[in-house]
Amino acid sequence: MRMFGTNGVRGIANEYLSCELALRMGRCIGKVLGPRIAMACDTRVTSDMIRSALSAGLMSVGTDVLDLGVVPTPALQLYIKEHHEITGGVMITASHNPPEFNGIKCISGDGTECPPEEERRIEDLYDEDVPTVGWKDVGSILRISNAAEDYVRSIVSKVDSESIKEAGFTVVVDCANGASVETTPMLMKELGVRAITINGNPQGEFPGHPSEPTEDNLSALKKMVVDLGADLGIAHDGDADRCVFIAGDGRYISGDAALAILSRHLLKKEGGNSVTVTVATSAVVESTVASCGGDVVYTAVGSPIVSRAMRDNGSIFGGEENGGLIFASHQYCRDGAMGAAVMLECILSEGPLPEQLDSLPRYYTVKKTAYCPDELKQTVTDEISSNHADCKINRMDGLRIDFDDGWVLLRPSGTEPKYRIYSESRDRDTAEQRAQVFLEEFESTLSRL
Ligand code: MG
Repeated sequence: MRMFGTNGVRGIANEYLSCELALRMGRCIGKVLGPRIAMACDTRVTSDMIRSALSAGLMSVGTDVLDLGVVPTPALQLYIKEHHEITGGVMITASHNPPEFNGIKCISGDGTECPPEEERRIEDLYDEDVPTVGWKDVGSILRISNAAEDYVRSIVSKVDSESIKEAGFTVVVDCANGASVETTPMLMKELGVRAITINGNPQGEFPGHPSEPTEDNLSALKKMVVDLGADLGIAHDGDADRCVFIAGDGRYISGDAALAILSRHLLKKEGGNSVTVTVATSAVVESTVASCGGDVVYTAVGSPIVSRAMRDNGSIFGGEENGGLIFASHQYCRDGAMGAAVMLECILSEGPLPEQLDSLPRYYTVKKTAYCPDELKQTVTDEISSNHADCKINRMDGLRIDFDDGWVLLRPSGTEPKYRIYSESRDRDTAEQRAQVFLEEFESTLSRL
């Protein structure tokens, strides 16, 4: 049975995501990921139930469980990466989804997200009767209490913490009442930052605001940054693998702008030569990276894809426009608190964020949505691609066409009968007209099939 989506197994707890499912899943994960599994969760009220059932399943096939408690996903991933005897991991989280949801995300023994092949092996076992071990061989649970401190200490060692301490920054942190409630305030303290934390209560019902760190959900954070004259606002999603920023003047920094700003800082600091982003990323990143003498490597959409590409091509930095930031110097996964620390270092070296934002080239992006039945997605993409054979075409994820003054991306949704059409240009009218032209071409092509 197909169970893993782009972000692990997700559903409403005690409905789709039941104890029975978690127990059975635990047996399959134990069989595939091996004899020592580290486990953590975010603050959701159903996390204890899911982790108890999952642990029972794991132990019944002879797997030992190291329970890290409530920590961010990247803290679990770092713990796995740094402890070689651990053969895999499980994060119980539904990231930014509403509080009734929960989820199971699997981590490989090197701390990176499980590749799809490994998830397929787990799913394939789900339909079988996985044999349990004899009573003498069942696994045990060991509670680990230092994963949060280890994560914070590791980040402090990767940035210029002495200079950050001397700067006397004021920062407002919005934890969305999620997995970062302990770690990010602790990190700010270790970095000598005067930090004011909002939505820092691990109640599990996310009453502060929905835990997706979008501009609309962060109005309280924006206001506090301005009212307190803070240097920076930081917001995480529910499991704190992502991080978004508010500049000192209250402006929300888009994910694309954050990628550009951090790329510029890191290329100067670390002297690497490439940054990896997805084909849906604004050209603001490519033009900023080019101005520093670097190259951009493009991949399909999905943070595990970006992470693996970075490892293969030696990029120092990469990420996605939703606040997923990946630092090769730390670990190959989205790393929310690391993003916060590097942004402080970036303000020190490149100046206040409002000025950095104003220095970026301005691009306009238009997004449209078109209906398309799943079975016709490939044919439509092929047809439109052949209509533009004389253009610069990229088929890595849907169809991207680059023009001298912008680009268009037609990307099939992985979960719905839809296409998303992105159009970007330095000129607003060009971006809008081109989005409309391609929407009409898409609809007329589909109507002929
Ligand atoms: Mg997340």
